[in-house]
Amino acid sequence: MRSPDFDASLKEAGRFPPEGAQPLAADGISTLQINLGRLCNLSCKHCHVEAGPARTELMPEAVMDGVLALLEGQGRRTVADLTGGAPEMHPRYRWFIRRCAMGGAAVKTRTNLVILTEKGFEDLPEFFAENRVEVIASLPYYSEEVTDRLRGSGVFKGSVNALKRLNNRGYGVQGSGLALNLVYNPCGAFLPPRQKEIEADFRRELLRTHGITFTNLFTITNMPAGRFLTFLERSGNLNRYMERLRAAFNPSAVQNVMCRQMLSIGPDGSLYDCDFNQMLGLKCGHGAPDNIRDFDIEKLKHRRIVTGPHCFGCTAGSGSSCTGAVAGQDLKPPRSAGLYRSRNRAYTSDMLKKETPFIKDEECPVCKNREEDCVCCPECGHLCVLNEGELYCPVCGPKKPRSETAAP
Ligand code: SF4
Ligand code: SF4
Repeated sequence: MRSPDFDASLKEAGRFPPEGAQPLAADGISTLQINLGRLCNLSCKHCHVEAGPARTELMPEAVMDGVLALLEGQGRRTVADLTGGAPEMHPRYRWFIRRCAMGGAAVKTRTNLVILTEKGFEDLPEFFAENRVEVIASLPYYSEEVTDRLRGSGVFKGSVNALKRLNNRGYGVQGSGLALNLVYNPCGAFLPPRQKEIEADFRRELLRTHGITFTNLFTITNMPAGRFLTFLERSGNLNRYMERLRAAFNPSAVQNVMCRQMLSIGPDGSLYDCDFNQMLGLKCGHGAPDNIRDFDIEKLKHRRIVTGPHCFGCTAGSGSSCTGAVAGQDLKPPRSAGLYRSRNRAYTSDMLKKETPFIKDEECPVCKNREEDCVCCPECGHLCVLNEGELYCPVCGPKKPRSETAAP
């Protein structure tokens, strides 16, 4: 899985001179991202964890004790970032959060929101507030249609309900000190739009339609891992998606990729450079310890990162991490990101504009991009291709120009 071309791209970009130096290395550990298990109340189509209600992996208490000991040894400034699955479903979740907070760690929890409306979990907003837990909530989109398509029927209504309850407890309300951050990731095989722009859309629409406020919105690129990788493979879109990520490689994003400051811990205590490496089974390597039993900060804080083709997902466009874009928001993917290859022909954005009038000078209805080269399928969000001059979605079939499909 190791990717000579990701490392080669870093080297070409001159980010890690001198010649022959290690390609990508950690620069300290400010965050321990702790995966409490794969159990989840949802089974989202894009889930890189492949989580769901039937998964049984949960972090045993002995491993939790080991993680708490690490946090205490790391001092008060370390962030404990809890993830899953739905981390709330771990039977020792509240105990673990209390212990993390008592040890002085800043605690963040990831949530799919809907879980906060289920029996036994409804009081979690109060619990979060008491323990000053930062909430990072995934919400695919501000419309019911797109969100339910990705996560299942009824998920949007449940998410809105949970957001209102978090707001009522002060989360996402200016001056409360309780952070409620949303996470957006594209609903298909395309890059996220600019973070500031989509954040403004979410802020406006959630306030207008539901009276909901939040702190910040993070955009995350879909990584070729887990269910999303299966989806790319089954739909024949993997190579095109990888080509798109590679073409949008942004050297400015490299310095801030999350593995440089974070260590990811699996339910069994294994150590990984990030959650994506965890899902791909790529433990810390290059001589660094790969289990909390052997934790050694001196060997880990400047460890060489285990890279692969998926790393292009973190460095495409404005970059991507668990806290959103990592490069300046004024940065755009290079124009070459708009090249499409079909039957050995290279299609430029100009040709797309000419041949597919339904994207001409309009905002894409799926990703909200105004890029000339956006070729999201307006029905399913999939990456379309040009085939014999016709725009073709591998999921929905041939696309007609919008002018031909518009209602009379
Ligand atoms: S994406 Fe999140 S909410 Fe959806 S199945 Fe995966 S872990 Fe659960
Ligand atoms: S996928 Fe993981 S290892 Fe690769 S660049 Fe991103 S955070 Fe680092």
